[in-house]
Amino acid sequence: MQQYKVNKKGFYGEFGGAYIPEILYSNVENLKNNYLKILEDPQFQKEYRGLLRDYVGRPSPLYLAKRLSEKYGCKIYLKREDLNHTGAHKINNTIGQILLARRMGKTRIIAETGAGQHGVAAATVCALMNMPCVVYMGAVDVERQRLNVEKMQMLGAEVISVTGGNKTLKDATNEAIRDWCSHPSDTYYIIGSTVGPHPYPDMVARLQAVISEEIRWQLQEKEGRETPDCLLACVGGGSNAAGTIYHFLNEPSVHIVLAEAAGKGIHSGLSAATIHLGKLGIIHGSKTLLMQSEDGQIEEPYSISAGLDYPGIGPLHAHLAKTGRSEVLAITDDEALEAAFELTRLEGIIPAIESAHALGVLKKKTFQEEEIVVICLSGRGDKDMETYIKNKKQ
Ligand SMILES: *Cc1c(COP(=O)(O)O)cnc(C)c1O
Repeated sequence: MQQYKVNKKGFYGEFGGAYIPEILYSNVENLKNNYLKILEDPQFQKEYRGLLRDYVGRPSPLYLAKRLSEKYGCKIYLKREDLNHTGAHKINNTIGQILLARRMGKTRIIAETGAGQHGVAAATVCALMNMPCVVYMGAVDVERQRLNVEKMQMLGAEVISVTGGNKTLKDATNEAIRDWCSHPSDTYYIIGSTVGPHPYPDMVARLQAVISEEIRWQLQEKEGRETPDCLLACVGGGSNAAGTIYHFLNEPSVHIVLAEAAGKGIHSGLSAATIHLGKLGIIHGSKTLLMQSEDGQIEEPYSISAGLDYPGIGPLHAHLAKTGRSEVLAITDDEALEAAFELTRLEGIIPAIESAHALGVLKKKTFQEEEIVVICLSGRGDKDMETYIKNKKQ
């Protein structure tokens, strides 16, 4: 039963742990010793649930996509995380972490961001809670993601452009950790996915688990049973996927299929297919699969989707793939684009390009007519319009 949950030392099988600088040890220990107590405290739950309802707009609908179902010959439900405030699932996590930070007496928030989506979700809750927020972002990403930088600044966050290394997410992460090392007592680091040192992967999974909690009662209402036959989600760091599968992990009848970004193809040298290509290494304080060169240097990932182009993968997902609990498919840029255009025309929903990777799985599997498939639609496509305009068919 427990084999998919994190163990006391912070490991999922051989993956996970907390590989952190000495100076952060007591900080992370403190978090480790308190996060479960805080998350399970009725007062915390009351405030967290209240905000999820009235601020985020939960429960998010579970929508039976009729035309998509007809096309693929099964019953397809979309879990509509795209309808959340700020347009994706990330806010479920940042709301929870900022409430936790306050309860731990922290007065300053830091975060790192690649595409800017997590930065916006963090800056949003900092505005809500009136806490100062510093977001580290690679200089290349600051250029590429102007609109999100403007949003974060409008929300009151300070965005620090990181000019070291490749000037992308990995470098922003290093800078955020450096900041944390200099301010260990007053600063709380909001991590945006099921990555980082223990207890972050478990904490983020628990905060996103509201997704599968809702799927269970929504399916019961609509289908008279709580479990689907198949769950689909995309994986970058793995948080929307972790939330989608969390309450189904111990039910082997629920097939789990996850989509990682194959970019231009897994063997093209331009991909973010970490589970297919990664080797054991340490990134962001966690032992996991990691895209790296022969001599152990982290390789720059590539995907058309900024939210999936992370060189590592949450340790939970490395473990699920290794033990065979999840099936992981690599979906290319072109397959994701095709799926995005298809959903838009069939259902009138423009998905985030990340979520479109999960939709891309439909073409690669065959389903029986009575099978119930739930897809996590992790976000909306407004932010990806430039990508869609560039790639539309003439
Ligand atoms: C950030 C993001 C993702 C990827 O992050 P996970 O932690 O793997 O869920 C997926 N979809 C959307 C819409 C995102 O913004």
